[in-house]
Amino acid sequence: MNALAATNRNFRLAARLLGLDSKLEKSLLIPFREIKVECTIPQDDGTLATFVGFRVQHDNARGPMKGGIRYHPEVEHDEVNALAQLMTWKTAVANIPYGGAKGGIGCDPGELSTSELERLTRVFTQKIHDLIGIHTDVPAPDMGTGPQTMAWILDEYSKFHGYSPAVVTGKPTDLGGSLGRDAATGRGVVFATEALLNDHGKAISGQKFVIQGFGNVGSWAARLIHEKGGKIVAVSDVTGAIKNTNGIDIPSLLNHVKENKGINGFHGGDSLDPELILVEDCDILIPAALGGIINRENANDIKAKFIIEAANHPTDPAADEILSKKGVVILPDIYANSGGVTVSYFEWVQNIQGFLWDEKKVNNELKTYMTNAFKDVKKMCQRYNCDLRMGAFTLGVNRVARATVTRAKIE
Ligand code: GLU
Repeated sequence: MNALAATNRNFRLAARLLGLDSKLEKSLLIPFREIKVECTIPQDDGTLATFVGFRVQHDNARGPMKGGIRYHPEVEHDEVNALAQLMTWKTAVANIPYGGAKGGIGCDPGELSTSELERLTRVFTQKIHDLIGIHTDVPAPDMGTGPQTMAWILDEYSKFHGYSPAVVTGKPTDLGGSLGRDAATGRGVVFATEALLNDHGKAISGQKFVIQGFGNVGSWAARLIHEKGGKIVAVSDVTGAIKNTNGIDIPSLLNHVKENKGINGFHGGDSLDPELILVEDCDILIPAALGGIINRENANDIKAKFIIEAANHPTDPAADEILSKKGVVILPDIYANSGGVTVSYFEWVQNIQGFLWDEKKVNNELKTYMTNAFKDVKKMCQRYNCDLRMGAFTLGVNRVARATVTRAKIE
């Protein structure tokens, strides 16, 4: 099942549980606006290259639309639509005053030079600048993009609309980016894991973790789990995978990755087939890379008791069913990885107020939001006698449905 079909399916199951009217269901499902643009740039060798850029603005009932911009070869229409819809439910679960959006460009950022990436980002911004804005749609980093990408978008946008730092979040701190934003998604994953484990009478210390993906989210989660006494027994990234049943020395791995641009060649463990990392023996599995990687093919072989979805939609519906029969507890993406967009909200608030918070305040507020959202999700699980994914979906969908009905007075 592709990402959009899987996301629509989860939405419909939640809508049924909530007893939503079919007209409201339709209005919540159809995106507010879908943008697809041609981005042609001169490459460094003087020849032209054309890429396709997307921005899907899914819903704005609760506030400006919000979500990342992804640069990846697999970026295409359905995937961006699914990710935009997930942002709508995610911001509602987090209880921050936003709707949902997502964008991206189908490209391989590793193959482009810095100046090509800058030209591509500026051309993309020229095509969408009239449709984004501080109170309409606020982009942020995602896979393959980062603070520098946001700085280019801000600079290009400002040529048309005047200097407007709050138009993007995840900016460099020199341009009004929030302290703690870079670590926020990973830190939020760790707060979410603690909330779940606490609910099961456990703590991070002493648990065995496997982390698939060692980019921004996976590496921050690994660092913080290691600091809290969790034992990380296997990690992978695009360059390879390693395992060490005694626990990987994460600070040395982080140094290695910084110097070598990947896990490959790290000597603090045995190398492992990256395909097999998801079925390694552990207590807690954290997928922190692409979507759809836990599926019918591997779900039966997963040994973890808990799965924390740091990635967006890593588990497809067939795997959800298999894992639930096995008693595996899944902490869903729209809650587990909401720390990034939550600190994006703090950044936007700071920009609008013209006031900077210290990092301690950012992290404390993030913990409060993550803990409260977990309690809210659990309440929905009890009310509808459902798993955590449906608990999070019913929570998010219900908040958006209420805002939509109140604004439109649809009865
Ligand atoms: N790209 C991140 C996500 O998928 C963050 C989005 C944001 O900060 O707006 O949640």
